[in-house]
Amino acid sequence: MMEAKSIQLQQLVPPTLNVIIAHAEELTRLDQAIGDGDHGINMKRGAEKILEELPAISAKPAGEALKAMGMALVMSVGGASGPLFGSLLMEMGKSLGARAMDRDILAECFAAGIDAVKKRGRSDVDQKTMLDVLVPALEVLQSKETGTELYARLKETVAASETRTIAMKALKGRASYLGERSIGHMDPGARSCGLAIREICNVLEDAQNE
Ligand code: ADP
Ligand code: MG
Repeated sequence: MMEAKSIQLQQLVPPTLNVIIAHAEELTRLDQAIGDGDHGINMKRGAEKILEELPAISAKPAGEALKAMGMALVMSVGGASGPLFGSLLMEMGKSLGARAMDRDILAECFAAGIDAVKKRGRSDVDQKTMLDVLVPALEVLQSKETGTELYARLKETVAASETRTIAMKALKGRASYLGERSIGHMDPGARSCGLAIREICNVLEDAQNE
């Protein structure tokens, strides 16, 4: 995945965040069905905050930049998702440290970030949360797949994983207050992760094909 060594944060981050911003209304609708209807607003606010700080952030080494993006989310986003996505990025940055990113290191950092989400959220897979997309994506990243097949597998996997949350009963977060009534709706946080991961794949794939 990181054969695209020349990829810069300025190339990767704006398209990814712009996809989130463009889907804010959809994310809000999903959260209206099983939560309090603020997920789109939360994600949009966090995305705009990172974009605002991106000139300063992208001047930092990658590990520090990831931490700074995570901090921006923690500081700007109310709701469960801000601290959770913030923990993901901050822990990825901590795990990366001063190293240069490559495929194996990305898998290692992503695993560390996901562990931080689990710890902070006291949550795990199959509870109808963002983890139901993040963990399957990590498993693909840890597989032997490379090149075009890797991106294809990642994109297929996150799409299928978003869909799988529809049939799940929420056991964490606000959606869990609905109990059985949470079944039949896609989890908003899982959808956000799917949108972001697919766009990251698209940008990396395009950069590779240039
Ligand atoms: P809030 O639930 O505080 O209104 P958001 O609506 O922004 O915050 O985010 C809701 C999303 O956060 C959920 O769809 C779910 O994916 C994720 N989430 C909530 N609680 C947890 C948790 N404990 N662990 C992992 N993810 C969670
Ligand atoms: Mg909400």
